[in-house]
Amino acid sequence: MPPTSPPAARVSQLDTLRGNEQRQEYTARKITALTINPGCHRRAVLDAAGIDKGRLAERLGHPAPFGQSPFAITRQRAFEEQLKANGYAELITLLRAELGVPIEEARVADLNSAWESEGLGVRAAETRNLLGAIAKDDDARVILDHPVLTLDVAGTTAHLVPDAVSHRVGDRLYVVVIRSFAAVDGRADANSVAEAAKQAAVYVLALRSVLRTLGADPALVADRFLLVLPRDFTNRPYGRLVDLRQQLDAVQYQLSRLDRAEEAAAALSAGATLDLSTGTSTERLTRTVDELPHLYGPRCLDMCELSHHCREEARRTRDPARLGAVVRDALPGLADTTTAHHLALGQRRPAPEQEEVVTQLARAAQLRARRRAAGGAA
Ligand code: SF4
Repeated sequence: MPPTSPPAARVSQLDTLRGNEQRQEYTARKITALTINPGCHRRAVLDAAGIDKGRLAERLGHPAPFGQSPFAITRQRAFEEQLKANGYAELITLLRAELGVPIEEARVADLNSAWESEGLGVRAAETRNLLGAIAKDDDARVILDHPVLTLDVAGTTAHLVPDAVSHRVGDRLYVVVIRSFAAVDGRADANSVAEAAKQAAVYVLALRSVLRTLGADPALVADRFLLVLPRDFTNRPYGRLVDLRQQLDAVQYQLSRLDRAEEAAAALSAGATLDLSTGTSTERLTRTVDELPHLYGPRCLDMCELSHHCREEARRTRDPARLGAVVRDALPGLADTTTAHHLALGQRRPAPEQEEVVTQLARAAQLRARRRAAGGAA
C-alpha cells in the first residue's frame, strides 16, 4: 500500500507537543535506530514529533555524546565536493568500473544548493517530477543530487535525502551513499559499512515507495547500492556495489512493526509538552518523557541521544532489560531484578505465573554453584 498522509488533527497533536521549536526531520540514521528498537514508543514519539533529542537529553540532565565531530563533517563535505565535480565524473567512472558496462555522460539535477531557499515539500515535488520522467525513460540520463524522498514511518511522513541517485544504468537506478571512512586495500570497517547499508536500505525503500505512488515499477531501483569511500586515506574515491537484500527485508519488516506514533502521543495526559523553549520547566519535560513507554537495553547507548536518561530510569526501577535482551527474555513477568533475586534465594513465594521462571532461576543457581565448586569462574 502506498503511504498516505496522516490525518491533519493527529499530526497537529505531535506538533503541539513540540511547541515553538523547529521540527527536526527524520533521517535514515534515525529510522534505522527506530527499527532496531521498534517497541520503544518514547523514541517513536520523539522522532515523529521532530524533537531535538540531544537538547532534550541536556535539559533532562543526562546528555549523551552523539553525532559527528566537526573534523569528520568537514572531511565528509570536502570528499563529497570532489566526487561531484565535473558533473559527477568520478561517480560515473565508479559505476562503469563496478558494472562493467559502458556508461555515457549524464547530466546532474541538483536538488540541494539550487533549491536551498525552498522547503523539503517543494524539493520532494520536484524529485517526483524528475523520477516520473526517469521512470518513463524520458530523462534517463539524469543523476539526482540530494533528491528528497518520502516514506511513511510510524504513521508520519519522513523526508529523506540520500547523497545521490544514479542515472539509469542497465535499466536500474542505484542509491549512492558517500562516506568519509577509508577503504584500505579495498577493505573498510565492517561496522561502518553495515551502518551505511542499513541507511541505504531506508533510501531504497523510500525511492521504491515514491515510484509506486507514481504508478511506476519499484523494481527499477536496484537492490544494491554504490558505497563511495576515500581510497587508502587519500582523497581518491573507491566505490563498491553492496548487496542490500537482507537489509531491505529486515528494515521493511521492522518498519511494519512500528506502532503509530500519534496514538502513543494521544495517550499522554493533558498538559504534556516537549517544548524545549526556555519557559518549560525541566520537571514538566521529565514528566512527559517518563510517561512515554520505553524499552531500554544496552544497545540504546550506541544509537539514542536519550540513552543516559533511560539508563538511569532502568537502574532506578531495577528493570531487567538494562542487562540486555537475554536477561529480559529470561525473566518474563518479573518487573525488577530485586524480585528475581528474592525468588531465586527462596526469600519470596512466587505467584503461579512466576513458577516457571523460578524453576529456571533455581537451575541456573545450581549450575553456578557446581561450577564454583569445581573451581571455574562463576
Ligand atoms: S534510549 Fe530510551 S528513548 Fe532511546 S531507544 Fe532506548 S529506551 Fe527508547
